[in-house]
Amino acid sequence: MRRVYNFSPGPSAVPEAVLNRIRDELYDWQGLGMSVMEISHRGKEFEALVERTEARLRELLAIPANYRVVFVPGGATMQFAAVPLNLAGAGGAADYVVTGHWGKKAVTEAERYCTVNVAADAAATKYTAIPPRESWRLRSDAAYVHYTPNETIGGVEFHFVPDTGAVPLVADMSSTIMSRPIDVSRFGVIYAGAQKNLGISGITVVIVREDLLGRARRETPSVIDYRAQAADKSLLNTPATFVWYVLALTLDWVAEQGGVSVMAERNSAKAKRLYAAIDASGFYRNPVDPPARSWMNVPFMLADPNLDKEFLADAARAGLASLKGHRSVGGMRASIYNAMPEAGVAALTDFMADFERRRG
Ligand code: PMP
Repeated sequence: MRRVYNFSPGPSAVPEAVLNRIRDELYDWQGLGMSVMEISHRGKEFEALVERTEARLRELLAIPANYRVVFVPGGATMQFAAVPLNLAGAGGAADYVVTGHWGKKAVTEAERYCTVNVAADAAATKYTAIPPRESWRLRSDAAYVHYTPNETIGGVEFHFVPDTGAVPLVADMSSTIMSRPIDVSRFGVIYAGAQKNLGISGITVVIVREDLLGRARRETPSVIDYRAQAADKSLLNTPATFVWYVLALTLDWVAEQGGVSVMAERNSAKAKRLYAAIDASGFYRNPVDPPARSWMNVPFMLADPNLDKEFLADAARAGLASLKGHRSVGGMRASIYNAMPEAGVAALTDFMADFERRRG
C-alpha cells in the first residue's frame, strides 16, 4: 500500500489516524457486530454519537451557550439558499461581500430568495485582494452581511473578522473552519461543508445564534430550516450516518492533536514555508496580495505555463497528488488543510526547488 501527499481542495486528505480507526471499526462498531453505517439513526448508539459530535465541536470552537449547532445535508451550496430563506424574511434584503468564486455563487443563489446588495466586490483585482472594510457599502436595512472568510479557489483569506455592527455576520467557512481559533460570538451564522477540515462530503455544520432562529420563510424546506433541525437534534430525517461518524472521528483527532490553537500553529508554519519558497524563486509566483494570502489554499503559477503538464506529471511520480489549479486561475494549487502534515509541505517545496533546478 502506498499513500501519497494529497493536496486536493476537497474532498481532501483525511488524517491517517482517522482512516485507520475507520478500518479497525468497520465490521464491528462498539461491539454491536455491525458497522456504524448499518444501524438506525434513531438508536441510542447513534444518538450518543450525535451528542458527542456536537459536544466536541462546541469544545473545540468554544461555541457560546446562546448558539445552536445543526448538521444538515446539501453542502455549502444548500446554505447559499438556506441562509436567505432562514434569515431574510419575505421581501428582505442582504449584503454580500464578494472576494472570489464561492462568494459569487452565494450571491447568484441568494438572488432567488431576497434582494441582494453586493456591498463590495474584488473583481477589479481579479479576486487577489480583500476590499478594505471602509469601502463596503452596507445597507442599513440588511438582514445580514454574508462573506467568504477563505476563498478556496483564489486562495484569498480574511485574517480578521469584519465589523458589521448590529447586523448579523454570516460566514461560509467551508475551507477554513477548524484551521485556527475563532470568536464565534462575532457571527450570526457560520456554515461549512465537512469535506476539508471536518471529514468527508455529505454533511454541513451550521452554527447559528439563537435569536436568529424562527425567522425562516414559510416555504423553507424543513430539512434546511435551522429552527426545525435544532428542535429535532438534526435528526429530522435520515442523515448521512457514516459521514457523521467520520466527522466525529475527525473532531476527536483535532482534540488529540491539542485543539485548534495547535492546528493554527501548524497551518501558519506550513503556509509560511510554502509562500517563502514561492517568493524566493523567480520561477514560481503567487498572485495574492500578501496580507490576504490563504493558509489553506495556495495557488501558484510557473513562469512558463508550457511546463505545467510536466510539473504535474513529475509531482505525481514524486508522490505529490492533486496539485492542478482550478481552471479559472490556472497553474497549480496546493491545499494544505489540517490533515496535511508539515512533512508534506516540505516534500512539496523540495520538489519545487528540484524542478526549478532542472527546468528553470
Ligand atoms: N464554499 C466554499 C468556500 C467552498 O470551498 C465550496 C466547495 N469547495 C463550496 C462553498 C461549495 O461546497 P459544496 O460543493 O459542498 O456545496
